[in-house]
Amino acid sequence: MTNQDKLLQWFYKNQRKLPFRENKDPYKIWISEVMLQQTRVAAMLPSYEKFISRFPNITSLAESTEEEVIQYWKGLGYYSRAINLRKGAVYLKENFQAKFPESLDEALSIPGVGPYTARAVLSIAYNKEYAVLDGNVKRVLARYFLFKENISLPSSHKALQELANTFLNSKNPGDHNQAMMELGAMVCLQAPLCMLCPIQKGCLAFEQGKQTEFPIMGKEKTKLPIKLKFFFLENNEKILVVKYKHRRFFKTIFTLPFLIEGSKLPVSYNDNSEFGKFLKEIEFNLEWTKTGKHSITHHDIELYQSSNKLDKKKLQTLEKIFSSKLPSVELEWKWIKKEDLKSEFPSSIAGKLRIDVK
Ligand code: SF4
Repeated sequence: MTNQDKLLQWFYKNQRKLPFRENKDPYKIWISEVMLQQTRVAAMLPSYEKFISRFPNITSLAESTEEEVIQYWKGLGYYSRAINLRKGAVYLKENFQAKFPESLDEALSIPGVGPYTARAVLSIAYNKEYAVLDGNVKRVLARYFLFKENISLPSSHKALQELANTFLNSKNPGDHNQAMMELGAMVCLQAPLCMLCPIQKGCLAFEQGKQTEFPIMGKEKTKLPIKLKFFFLENNEKILVVKYKHRRFFKTIFTLPFLIEGSKLPVSYNDNSEFGKFLKEIEFNLEWTKTGKHSITHHDIELYQSSNKLDKKKLQTLEKIFSSKLPSVELEWKWIKKEDLKSEFPSSIAGKLRIDVK
């Protein structure tokens, strides 16, 4: 029996029962793969179930609004994924009769669908012979083949893709891909559980006792420490939320107005718009409360907040800013009830702010 066959047998016996594995619906596989790209399985499952029950197919997603899709993406972060999924659904409805195509070129033409997602959907849904390569699969392959380059280099990606292609079980590529990902997620962990591994015989790292030396990784980039200062700007029992279309954070969702601070801040983080200047002007007169910390891929964030009841003069300034032409391109705004903050600002950061702080 080949190692690929052993891997499949292990997978059929040990795979986690996950809703998106229940059938081979390409749409559901597409949604689950995109959700899993930056979110762990346990964290994405509740959102997945809700998303699929509201948008059960490509047509329902294509006919939704961006705002609603964002609402259903709540808690998953990286909202551009949700927006791209909707764009992709619209594209499929218009060009492919709301069906996920079966060729790689056509799948790659869908907005937001990259090589990983296309390969995953085509192999799992249609059993096409495409090997997938995600972080888990890279770790397994780097150990199994004793891959001696830094796996984060672009040249390594190509070489590892070739190894993945070679190792692919062409009789059952879809299940093989899932088995590789599952092996990486459950057995070939950072600290690997080699005694449970179905492909231990043949794994070069295991043979040479070098499992923990592989994969070779580049040095972790240090995260940029920043402060995000959120403004609760109040008027008539309501607070202001804005959607910054061109800023580094929260481009796709409404957020409380904020300023970014940090000693090593690149200039691109500054907000030099009229609205940004308005915030800077009032910032110094406010008392700031530190409400939490948050860590994302490239940033370690300290969260601060402050409240301000806007007086007549400030409201007039705001009205002037919002009525000029330029900001409408860069900024959307609306007034909401304080208690609706978490639903209107659907980021886990909103959960760390306190609406009771004055
Ligand atoms: S034997 Fe160990 S290191 Fe090799 S693939 Fe299996 S779990 Fe990973």
